[in-house]
Amino acid sequence: MEQVRLGKTNLKVSRVGIGGIPLQRPSEEDAIELIQYAIDNDINIIDTSIGYGSSEIRIGKALVGRRDDVTLITRTGVTDKKTANEHLERSLKQLQTDFIDIYEMHNISTAERYEAAIGEGGSLEAMYEAQDKGKIGHIGITSHCMETMKTAVKSELFDIILFPFNFINNESAKDLVPLTKRYDIGFTAMKPFAGGRLDDANLAIKYLLQFDNVVPVPGVEKKQEIDEILDIVNGSWELTGEENQKIESIRMELDKPFCQWCGYCEPGCPQEIKIPLVINAEGMWRLWPHEEIVDMYKKLLDPAKTCIECGQCEESCPYNLPIIDMLVEGIKYIESKIKI
Ligand code: SF4
Ligand code: SF4
Repeated sequence: MEQVRLGKTNLKVSRVGIGGIPLQRPSEEDAIELIQYAIDNDINIIDTSIGYGSSEIRIGKALVGRRDDVTLITRTGVTDKKTANEHLERSLKQLQTDFIDIYEMHNISTAERYEAAIGEGGSLEAMYEAQDKGKIGHIGITSHCMETMKTAVKSELFDIILFPFNFINNESAKDLVPLTKRYDIGFTAMKPFAGGRLDDANLAIKYLLQFDNVVPVPGVEKKQEIDEILDIVNGSWELTGEENQKIESIRMELDKPFCQWCGYCEPGCPQEIKIPLVINAEGMWRLWPHEEIVDMYKKLLDPAKTCIECGQCEESCPYNLPIIDMLVEGIKYIESKIKI
C-alpha cells in the first residue's frame, strides 16, 4: 500500500489508518483479529483514545509481538498536567507498550481548553516531559473547532492534528489542508463518513485521498469494512466524472449545517444539559457499544427534558444550528432506543 509522510513527524504511514471508537463493539476476540487483519494488509496507523472504552486494551492485546509494525496514536481529554501524566501511564499500560508514537490533546475545541492545555501546569507540560523521557514521540491535537485548530497549527507547538473532514463538511479542504502543508503538520482526518451520514465508502475515502497530506482514520468494526477500504486504497483513486457528480448531488442534499461538537453551546446552558450528546444521539448509536449508549442515554434524558427554551445555546452556536428543535429530535430518538 502507498505510504505517506505524516508532516514533520517524518513518520511514513499507510495512506489510510483505522480509528478506534467502534473497536469496542465486536467481541474482544473479533476486535483483536480485526486489528491484526488490518496490519497484515499493510494498514499501519492506528488511532485511539483513553476515552474510547475498551479500545486501547484491545489494541494493546492485538499488538503483542507486533508493536513495531504500527504508528500508534492515543490521547487524553484532560488539560491539566497531573491528570495527563496519569492518563499517559494508564494508556501505556493498556496498550502494553513503553512508547506511544503520537500523543494528543483530545477535543480542544474552545479557547479556554486550549489556553489551559498549553499554559502553566497544563497537559502540554506533561507531554514535553514524557517526550524527554522517551515515552512519547510526537505531540498532536484534536479539535472540532476550525478557529482553535488554526491557532494550534500556527502555534507550531504540534506535529500533527486530527480534524473532521469529509466531502459534506469540506471546510478543511480550503482552510486546513493548505495551512497544515505550509507548517508541515501531519493531518489525520476523522469523520470521513460525516458521522454515519455518508454510506458510500468508495466516494468518501476516494474524496479524501485527493489530498496528498491527509490520512483518513475511519472507525472500523468489521473485516468487510477493512476489505472495502483496501479495495479503494489499492485501486485507482481518481474520481470519475460520474463520481464527482454523485458527490456534488449528495453534498447538495446533505449540506445543511450540522453539529461539529465544538462545545460552545454547553457552558451557558442554565439547565446544564449535555447538548452535543443529546443532539448527536443518533450518530453515537452507530459508533458506540449499545449497552454503554443506553446507560448514557438514560442519564441524558431527564436533564434534556428540562430545557426552558431560553435560546442561550443557539446564540452561542457558531453554526447557527436550531438547537432547541434538535434537542426535541434527540429526546425522541433517545426515548425510542431506551424502550428497546
Ligand atoms: S435553550 Fe434549552 S438547551 Fe439551550 S441553553 Fe436554554 S435551557 Fe439550555
Ligand atoms: S450545537 Fe453548535 S455550539 Fe453546540 S456543539 Fe454543536 S456546533 Fe457546537
